Amino acid sequence: MSFESLGLMPELLRAVREQGYETPTPIQAQAIPTVLEGRDLMGRAQTGTGKTAGFTLPMLQRLAHHANTSASPARHPIRALILTPTRELAMQVEESVRTYGRHIPLRSTTIFGGVNINPQTKALRAGVEILVATPGRLLDHQQQGNLNFSQLEIVVLDEADRMLDMGFIRDIRKIIALLPTQRQTLLFSATFTDEIKQLAGAFLKNPALVEVTPRNTAAELVRQIVHPVDRERKRALLAHLIQSRGLEQVLVFTRTKHGANRLSEQLDKDGISSMAIHGNKSQPQRIKALEEFKKGSVRVLVATDIAARGLDIDQLPHVVNYELPQVPEDYIHRIGRTGRAGSEGEATSLVCVDEHKLLRDIEKLLRKDLPKQVVTGYAPDPSIPAQPIETGRQGGRSSGRPGGRPGGGAPPSHRARPGARGK
Ligand code: AMP
Repeated sequence: MSFESLGLMPELLRAVREQGYETPTPIQAQAIPTVLEGRDLMGRAQTGTGKTAGFTLPMLQRLAHHANTSASPARHPIRALILTPTRELAMQVEESVRTYGRHIPLRSTTIFGGVNINPQTKALRAGVEILVATPGRLLDHQQQGNLNFSQLEIVVLDEADRMLDMGFIRDIRKIIALLPTQRQTLLFSATFTDEIKQLAGAFLKNPALVEVTPRNTAAELVRQIVHPVDRERKRALLAHLIQSRGLEQVLVFTRTKHGANRLSEQLDKDGISSMAIHGNKSQPQRIKALEEFKKGSVRVLVATDIAARGLDIDQLPHVVNYELPQVPEDYIHRIGRTGRAGSEGEATSLVCVDEHKLLRDIEKLLRKDLPKQVVTGYAPDPSIPAQPIETGRQGGRSSGRPGGRPGGGAPPSHRARPGARGK
């Protein structure tokens, strides 16, 4: 199986070659010909499967016939809209659009909240064919009269399950209502829950169904280990592991924003450069943290589950669960950050007595026991009793559970939605 055999045009094949991709991933092999045909598509795939190229490459090809280098905004109407749950994912998807589309004169931009709206308005006025957006800010632009979707041909709902989790359903409905009914609709989701199926039923026409690898396959490629340790000694153990093993580029997960901040500050004090990424950080701070981490100038990135969703960091060598997630599926999302594209990855979990139930739930989901290894000098004290787990103000709510909307009540309006505060 080759990219050539999927029917991609030379400009795209060249870009793919320049990326060093040799063979299409399973989702690409299935999605590319289907999208090229113009069919609607419902894809079950999560980050790390190559889904972004799976929809971006054929989308670019379908838009290529009107690509032009005219300076006139009128020659660059919005022809494709990609909706994503988070700013980070929006940025990464647009980066992919630029990368794969570099030999085709199509323009793209991102639209997301938390930053000044004016530069976005300017970009929109200049004309862009491909818009990558989070739902709330998109509606803000709509209200300001900055958007015209009359020429729209393709809409992509990326990480649709996550958008529902974050309470974006109303925004999505509003946005879809703005689009021409004659269009191609693609929906990607890590899970096909009833809610997702309903959404697909409402917005997709006779979609082709594409499913890749069950969600815990990633888990099999990653070396996983559990270090039992006392609650109070986790930080010392983490610092010890990083220092003694000379670990670089470590992604560390905590359950709460507060915990992420605190840990990051403490690691800095231990002489381990670190940054935290979560929803209370300003957008420039988050972008900076991610860039510094990717460059290797920050050794540890401490993240909460929601903040880490959609982060595209290639072949990350180490993921550490400083605290186990409340939702077992999040464990799989977390460790999916490592061992990508066949490279060796390692996921280490520091587990204290409070988390034994969470660990059992994860092992049940994985259908296997994780190896446990006490690190010399850090053996847990068996006399310490378990305590209830600190989950932060939002109850440690996380991914993977439909209907887990923060606040519980009516879906928030797009001005007061959870995503507006970041995640
Ligand atoms: P995604 O699931 O879209 O987030 O992609 C996961 C990672 O796989 C990205 O870093 C891509 O650059 C990479 N990737 C996508 N397609 C391929 C391919 N065919 N061969 C190798 N790597 C790929």
